[in-house]
Amino acid sequence: MSVVESESRLRALRRRLRWEALYVSAPPNIRYLTGFSGSAGHLLVRRDEATLITDGRYRTQARLQTSGIAVEISAGDSRIALAEAVGARGLKELGFEANRLSYDAYAFLRREAVGCSLVPADSPVEALRILKSEDEVRAIRRSVDLNSNVFDEVCRRLEPGWTESRLAAELEFGMRRLGAEGPAFPTIVAGGPHGALPHAEPRDAAIPRNTLVVVDQGAVVGGYCSDMTRMIAVGRPDSAQMELVEAVREAQAAAVGAIRAGVECRTVDGRARQALRKRTVGGVRLDTAFTHSTGHGVGLEIHEGPRIAARRRQRLRAGMVVTVEPGAYLEGLAGVRIEDVVVVTEDGCEILTRTPRELRIL
Ligand code: ZN
Ligand code: ZN
Repeated sequence: MSVVESESRLRALRRRLRWEALYVSAPPNIRYLTGFSGSAGHLLVRRDEATLITDGRYRTQARLQTSGIAVEISAGDSRIALAEAVGARGLKELGFEANRLSYDAYAFLRREAVGCSLVPADSPVEALRILKSEDEVRAIRRSVDLNSNVFDEVCRRLEPGWTESRLAAELEFGMRRLGAEGPAFPTIVAGGPHGALPHAEPRDAAIPRNTLVVVDQGAVVGGYCSDMTRMIAVGRPDSAQMELVEAVREAQAAAVGAIRAGVECRTVDGRARQALRKRTVGGVRLDTAFTHSTGHGVGLEIHEGPRIAARRRQRLRAGMVVTVEPGAYLEGLAGVRIEDVVVVTEDGCEILTRTPRELRIL
């Protein structure tokens, strides 16, 4: 991240400071504000200064990754160093990330930071992260492209007899080989009835033939996540399954078509459900087989705001990056999900995922 970008993020956060200081505890939020990617750190933000407190393991990393902020290396427990920093500044009021801080860490700080009241803050850093800068969109695009390239390359090599675990492993190895830091989440490969579990784990069993296989994969590149689901089959699935794929493709296209700045998230979700309501496969009306929400924001974390779900009135804004991933899951038969990453624009959206959405028959 450029120095300019990290400074402008801290400036934007300071405009939202309603406390004497804010304690940022979530690693992705610390990374967003400072560039520091270590897994242990505390960031204290005041109007005129920001201090990153971490321990000796991260001394060099913190120096290399940050600029324009103070870095303090604690000798022992960094939580004590944080409480001491609060005391040394005479802070009477400290906002904390209510959705991120464990009860244990909260209780510790309450006990140690004597005289300072802890005030729950409602995701102030996530409120900034929800809109992506041009640099961030570029980073996500790189991640999405790499993820698609891996899918394509591995599908071309896939041989009948590979297990679901083997395919997942090849995909994850491929990500690393092409320069990703790793997978953004455990890769899902699930064939036949197993695919009807939306978050199925790959099995050590051959990919079943002539049936649908769900492949849901994401990479982390330069800290940014990608997320894509495609349907593949080794041999030709029956007509009911082909119909299921067509129905979800239609629903996915309908949801993508509803995206533009100003539209409520629930409207996009509703569009996918409406499309599925018109279709029945194997005696099941498909909107009843769509058991999760339509999408989520993606960035430094695989799941972030906004949520594209029923009842979510939040309005989309240009610069949000979200997935669109309706699905339909028929117990005992198969599951289908098709997922792209898109950037919301003033008059629509740009689909970042370039992999064709058709069922890929191998
Ligand atoms: Zn996914
Ligand atoms: Zn997703």
